[in-house]
Amino acid sequence: MSLPTPETIKPSNFLRQIIEHDLAAGTYASRRWAGSPGDAAHHAQGELDPAKIRTRFPPEPNGYLHIGHAKSICLNFGLARDYDGICHLRFDDTNPEKEDIEFVNTIMNSVRWLGFEWNGTSDAKPYQASDYFDFMYRAAEYLIEAGHAYVDEQTVEEIRINRGDFGKPGVDSPFRARTPAENLTRFREMRDGHHEDGAMVLRARIDMASPNINLRDPAIYRIRRATHHNTGDKWCIYPMYAYAHPIEDALESITHSICTLEFEDQRPFYDWLLERLIEGGLLSAPPPRQYEFARLNLTYVITSKRKLAQLVYDNKVDGWDDPRMPTIVGLRRRGYTPEAIQLFAERIGVTKSDSWIDYSTLEGCLRETLDVSTPRAMAVLDPVKLVLGNWGELMGKDALDDCSAPVHPHIPELGRRQFKIGKEVWIDRSDFMEQPVKGFFRMFPPRTDASGAALPGSKVRLKYGHVIECTGCSKNAAGEVIEVHANVLPDTKSGTPGSDAVKVKGVITWVAVADGLSAEVRLYDRLFLDAQPDAGGRDFIEDLNPNSLKVVQAIVEPSLASARADDKFQFERHGYFVADGVDHKAGKMVFNLAVGLRDGWGK
Ligand code: ATP
Ligand code: MG
Repeated sequence: MSLPTPETIKPSNFLRQIIEHDLAAGTYASRRWAGSPGDAAHHAQGELDPAKIRTRFPPEPNGYLHIGHAKSICLNFGLARDYDGICHLRFDDTNPEKEDIEFVNTIMNSVRWLGFEWNGTSDAKPYQASDYFDFMYRAAEYLIEAGHAYVDEQTVEEIRINRGDFGKPGVDSPFRARTPAENLTRFREMRDGHHEDGAMVLRARIDMASPNINLRDPAIYRIRRATHHNTGDKWCIYPMYAYAHPIEDALESITHSICTLEFEDQRPFYDWLLERLIEGGLLSAPPPRQYEFARLNLTYVITSKRKLAQLVYDNKVDGWDDPRMPTIVGLRRRGYTPEAIQLFAERIGVTKSDSWIDYSTLEGCLRETLDVSTPRAMAVLDPVKLVLGNWGELMGKDALDDCSAPVHPHIPELGRRQFKIGKEVWIDRSDFMEQPVKGFFRMFPPRTDASGAALPGSKVRLKYGHVIECTGCSKNAAGEVIEVHANVLPDTKSGTPGSDAVKVKGVITWVAVADGLSAEVRLYDRLFLDAQPDAGGRDFIEDLNPNSLKVVQAIVEPSLASARADDKFQFERHGYFVADGVDHKAGKMVFNLAVGLRDGWGK
């Protein structure tokens, strides 16, 4: 047995403490599992559950997963992995209007891409809440028969008013005292389509004076004529979320049902319902328990599915997988890796109180994980030509010299990249200043100082190449620099004896005209200008950053010719880039900025 290393010891949190307590106390040790979800009778035939705990991730298939879901995924799958358990992927498809089968596949792909397997095996079918409709219906009839539910024919408005509020107890519905037999007849009529949508609902009979409004006889079934993607037109009544969710958990023998804080007030109903159904022998004990944690709020990011959909459908971004979107597919196209997202989830941890996480935390996780292994390359994002005036004399006019650089500075096994240097090279426009500002150590031409004394041009090293001395520049009629001029200092080529005899203050990256390749580079920035773009009901569309995408034609070093879609690189001095997962092809290279080398915001 190997001892845990410091990196594998996870920081504890309240959920880990709860699970560890339950494992020590054997809270769930007697649970049986019949190999598939089911009621008490079904599980009673099974063996003791080999999974020590069961958690679940229950997305509604009505949108793409985003970074907030990733937090929940890493949490639920991570706990199951760490405690010898199983995490279920369950499509929470009880609401017939909102679901779309298109989302099912992308959700599965995103979970798999994040590195997780569901329901115990790599090719398992996800569970679907709609498969439990028959049981939910049976459970509702049981509640009616046991006097725990009734059909209410008040209008929606009457129900709302009679529910009372925080200071005012509710008023009993005139239908509350119906007999179980009457209720059952009515409920079956609801099921059989004898009543209009909205004409009546089935309500749990609990306590109209409860301080918790959710216990004032919550609705558990409603009439809704809608075709369901799984069950078609079989049902015209559908369970309410608050009723369906605890049942889904219990049928799947979930032990720890982890959700976000807004469901805290639902917990008493969750417990009430499962206790009733265990009493009635429909579900096996012990019931799952619900625990709440703070949802992820990330600055500069929107995590409402509805608002993300608006960005897509109003063409504010280029689809769900636009690299500026916080969706898993967008983050992936931006260059995010599962490792970076898992690190982020671990670093932010789980708490019981809402807070905002700074976007730079997410970027930091990406930078850190990419730094470890991504190959380096040189790229010139805003090219201007540098002409080495004395190259011909020193080397021969058309001569090219070989240069090389490590693929990764700390992984020599990855070998070296090869490229050429010649009379003409591309440099970044911002590496030259005709009138240098104070502290600028890159390229500038000879000048005279205030007293009229002549000062030489700057000396810089072309990284992995020679030291050069700037001699001037030429400009077009508009006054723009079109060429920078310099001379090579002999015997200064990197890696040759005595090459560092000349000390320079600046090192610049470059690509030779002879072997440079052109590439489209998409420079992405934050999608919103304000840290909380939708705070206080503000129109987040107004807050879009007009400069969130800038496309440039860059020149990159020849080693990138073999880059494949999704490959990541550090462009030296610029940041981390990914070959675009959709548009990058051999012969038409497209790179996306994943993250800069340093945090440029908030400074
Ligand atoms: P909607 O925006 O439609 O209300 P949702 O964001 O709640 O949906 P679901 O598909 O219901 O999306 O979410 C599945 C799971 O992901 C839920 O258990 C929910 O708690 C979790 N989740 C969603 N958003 C976040 C978030 N920002 N942080 C942490 N967990 C989240
Ligand atoms: Mg939801």
